[in-house]
Amino acid sequence: MPIYEFRCRGCGFRFEALRPLGDTGVGLECPSCGAKDPEKQLSVFAASAGGGSRSTGSGSSSCGSGFG
Ligand SMILES: [Zn+2]
Repeated sequence: MPIYEFRCRGCGFRFEALRPLGDTGVGLECPSCGAKDPEKQLSVFAASAGGGSRSTGSGSSSCGSGFG
């Protein structure tokens, strides 16, 4: 079973839980405040492709001074 990450709707506490594949986390309880039905977060395993910020490629080509 994969590990999913959840975030409590009440206190915002984030935790991980071992759930069956495709489980939505309904019925889970927040280990911090005890609230049920936490918000399921996107898996961090599958969202690790590419990068966050794009590289502008500075220094490669000669842009010259006086932009614009
Ligand atoms: Zn909570």
